[in-house]
Amino acid sequence: MSASVYERAIAVWGETAQLDMILEEIGELVVAIQQRKRGRITNDGVCEEIADVGIMLEQAAIMFGETSVEAYRRDKLARLEAKVSAAEDRLAAGMRP
Ligand SMILES: [Mg+2]
Repeated sequence: MSASVYERAIAVWGETAQLDMILEEIGELVVAIQQRKRGRITNDGVCEEIADVGIMLEQAAIMFGETSVEAYRRDKLARLEAKVSAAEDRLAAGMRP
């Protein structure tokens, strides 16, 4: 099986550099969200930074353990589903979510 582009990026630049890139891209996303809230950039500018962070997080999952990340993702999504359902029920009953 051939290495994914994520695995190749880690091999070429190393884990330390890619971890630095994760932090840099997250910082860019934080700035983009703040700028969007102030109307200084469009949604597209935020979308670009979301894509950047997503690409870096895929590499982080490879570095730290994809199986574990996926297990946490499944558990946390199930918990979110339960919380959203409970909040929807409260809203339907005229209560605060
Ligand atoms: Mg970026």
